[in-house]
Amino acid sequence: MTEDVLKEYLRHRAESSSKYHETKDGVYHASETSQCLRKLYYKRKAPEDKIPKDESSYPHFRLGHLIERIYFNALKHKHSYMHVRNSVPIRHEFDDFELVGQTDPVILGENLKPKRIYEVKSTSNIKYSKNEPSKHHVFQVHPYIAALQCPCSIVYIQKTNLSTATHEVNFDPSIFKASVDRLRELHKYLNDNKLPPSEPFSPKFECKFCSFSKHCNKDIDPRDID
Ligand code: SF4
Repeated sequence: MTEDVLKEYLRHRAESSSKYHETKDGVYHASETSQCLRKLYYKRKAPEDKIPKDESSYPHFRLGHLIERIYFNALKHKHSYMHVRNSVPIRHEFDDFELVGQTDPVILGENLKPKRIYEVKSTSNIKYSKNEPSKHHVFQVHPYIAALQCPCSIVYIQKTNLSTATHEVNFDPSIFKASVDRLRELHKYLNDNKLPPSEPFSPKFECKFCSFSKHCNKDIDPRDID
């Protein structure tokens, strides 16, 4: 009974948040700049009721969201309420597609101009994030940095005891260009109805958690998923 109540709540929260990530033709999210193009193609082309749902990930997403909220409150406690904003929307327009996103907390300066972006990532084991941020996260924050024109701190927080590791990321035009080039490539594959190659952006873990691995291994077109 207790478990059912919890599962239903987590499902509800996951479904509400997935509405924000609903796909629109020609509009891509910052987090998609560093994902396997084939996986993104499957997500956008497969019939919605055929896209496998991974309910085991729901608790992790919820805990991650709560940890981000704690960090936001901690920043408001340190700075004045007026100088901390959450979920600042960003948007970049290119020829025939857009790159959009929403930040985690942003600190504003005296003139209310963005001064520092924080991107909060919860992790099960902080030791993997001690030395450097993941390339995947560095790509994700570049559209924020480019839009708000201030540096970003990627803050890793361990779920068990809230210990942290923080890495500053400054704007690197080559990373931003590579992000945009990936989206341009994806946009072309989608328009041409052509399955991209099976090349994960993060080979160490992306295929392991990919909902489409069994289709991908056989080069199945997403519209033929049954
Ligand atoms: S299994 Fe790997 S290569 Fe295939 S779509 Fe998923 S992430 Fe991409």
